[in-house]
Amino acid sequence: ELYNQVQDLKGNIRVYCRVRPFLRGQNVTQTTVDYIGEKGSITIANPTKQGKEHRKLFNFNKVFGPSASQEEVFLDTQPLIRSVLDGFNVCIFAYGQTGSGKTYTMTGPNNPTPKDWGVNFRALHDLFELAQYRNDLIQYEVGVQIIEIYNEQVRDLLSCLVLNSINTLEIRNSSQQNGLNVPDASMISVQSTEDVLDLMKLGHRNRAVGATALNDRSSRSHSVLTVHIKGKELASGALLRGCLHLVDLAGSERVDKSEATGDRLKEAQHINKSLSALGDVIAALAQKNAHVPYRNSKLTQLLQDSLGGHAKTLMFVHVSPDADSHGETISTLKFAERVA
Ligand code: ADP
Ligand code: MG
Repeated sequence: ELYNQVQDLKGNIRVYCRVRPFLRGQNVTQTTVDYIGEKGSITIANPTKQGKEHRKLFNFNKVFGPSASQEEVFLDTQPLIRSVLDGFNVCIFAYGQTGSGKTYTMTGPNNPTPKDWGVNFRALHDLFELAQYRNDLIQYEVGVQIIEIYNEQVRDLLSCLVLNSINTLEIRNSSQQNGLNVPDASMISVQSTEDVLDLMKLGHRNRAVGATALNDRSSRSHSVLTVHIKGKELASGALLRGCLHLVDLAGSERVDKSEATGDRLKEAQHINKSLSALGDVIAALAQKNAHVPYRNSKLTQLLQDSLGGHAKTLMFVHVSPDADSHGETISTLKFAERVA
């Protein structure tokens, strides 16, 4: 209740920052994170310079330090996720440079133990549990789509499961489906978290198969896992729909224009364009602008119904703590500050 009031005041957009710990082999004495405050502030220092003027303060709804657990991060996300069962559309984004922890937050590390599970698994687990708990009042159906956007093309990562499905998808408005404008993407009905896990593994494999460039595909494309919920209130027969989009964005790092050529340059340009289009949309919503520029990228067109209006948005921005990342960390936090 209180949470919803706060959300309304903030225009339904929240921004959380997460600082990942140093990885094995990194020099922990050289950090760019100067201070993490309790009330959602973070101070970044330029490691090559001394003095106050080389420190910059940023404020967010919350800042998770390097020791924050997956559980802790999820608990602050849970109310938002639960609102999907009440018919809200929710988008959760992971933003940051490659290696900053986006996939860790959304999915977890490779071969996670239960305590390492990311937001995806925890969210699904929680939704199924809550749906089960309510099942003498509301009957829920859950369907999943997994797509990726690579070079401004939308690909269905579950198309192999459906006969006659199409691989490269058009975005158009759909009256039947709420919140995601790719009606042709394969929608797979699921009964449990395990079902979704299997689909995610499959989606991941299909992503690799489609790789054109040799460099890590996962950091060059946006991946979107969408959970569609349909609920039927047994007493009244009333229907409700909600959907949850879990978006692991392409790496936000700036590519050196003098070095990148060919495919690499094209990828970089598409990524820059779509991330700035996303930033523009969220900033316009946060400022309650009359015009929201959804049409400037596939990603924002795709999520149009789930960004703005009654929908809720959570942006996780990730930063790497090492000194070498100073420049990227500053630009990541500037992006996030604009939408906060
Ligand atoms: P990205 O998806 O942004 O490229 P990853 O999620 O793959 O980054 O993270 C890079 C590496 O850091 C991985 O080995 C990951 O397991 C590790 N890592 C990231 N965040 C954390 C964290 N909060 N705690 C422990 N390890 C982390
Ligand atoms: Mg990743």
